[in-house]
Amino acid sequence: MVRMTVLASGSKGNSTIVSSATTRVLVDAGLSCRELMKRMRAAGEEPEALNAILITHEHQDHVQGMAVTARKLGIPVYLTEPTHRAWVRWMTPRKRITYLEWLAQRQGAGLRSQGAEGNNGQGAELAQVTDSRKPDDPPAPRCSAEGNGEPDAEERAAAEEAIAEAAREPQKDPAALPAVEYFRAGNGFRIGDIAITPFTIPHDAADPVGFVFEADGVRIAIATDLGYMPSNVAVQLRGCDVLMLESNHDVDMLRDGPYPWSVKQRVMSRVGHLSNHAAAEFLAKGYDGGAAYVVLAHLSENNNMPELARISAEQALRDRMSLLANHLLLAEQDRPMETIVL
Ligand SMILES: [Zn+2]
Ligand SMILES: [Zn+2]
Repeated sequence: MVRMTVLASGSKGNSTIVSSATTRVLVDAGLSCRELMKRMRAAGEEPEALNAILITHEHQDHVQGMAVTARKLGIPVYLTEPTHRAWVRWMTPRKRITYLEWLAQRQGAGLRSQGAEGNNGQGAELAQVTDSRKPDDPPAPRCSAEGNGEPDAEERAAAEEAIAEAAREPQKDPAALPAVEYFRAGNGFRIGDIAITPFTIPHDAADPVGFVFEADGVRIAIATDLGYMPSNVAVQLRGCDVLMLESNHDVDMLRDGPYPWSVKQRVMSRVGHLSNHAAAEFLAKGYDGGAAYVVLAHLSENNNMPELARISAEQALRDRMSLLANHLLLAEQDRPMETIVL
């Protein structure tokens, strides 16, 4: 029996759990550790039984709970070397400050947990940090600039957890992980009885990937965060029982919406996000129709509406009579989706 639960999907945090009879992996950890665990339990998945965390790319909404969760559970993180390097680079302060100061600075004013206040100025000094680059740290790399640029609730929750952890263990390297396993796009690997194939996706991150999971004869593909549907991705999405596909924005809503033009361009670019229209185009013309479940994911809060995404995909599938068996589901930001059992 294979199960998949989308714990969260959208620009504020992404995470999905895939389980076989003996193995459980978390794909991305874009919520705080506490929220991830809460949602896992609600979905009937014990966090303590997780075998590994897999990361698609280093944007905050995919990694902000990664380190705390991996350390708490003592499990390895699987990612590509460029993704790991990009994350470590971002985690490493550019000038000599304490980890607590750095976190507070990153998250902006007003974000200081009680633990941080009690420990400010003590410990948590990071050694070996010498840097001649400009002292201003770059903003957190994100999937898209939704909202007003302020940290959202989940980002704050994840940062507060990290601050509390640093207050308890001030000498800890914030970029330390229990174990790191590198994979490369195109090279399959196994975790327990789940075979995993990572594939390259076009997105503005260091080395972004999607995944195909195979266990017990069931094939699950996750393809979100892609600016368009290249043929190498379409090939990976063949023969799937579950297809999780990005349906990020409605092109008109994005174009007419409040974002600055630079942000609109980034989202619409070849390394941005898949629109409802592009997802529908793939479902109508490029998709083999074999999936029992099609999950629309990474919907934009500001530039999409669930019904628009659903209608667009339904229309694409309706024209193909053979696809009546496809169940269309929408992944949500604020609560886990119903568990798919195959
Ligand atoms: Zn994303
Ligand atoms: Zn991204």
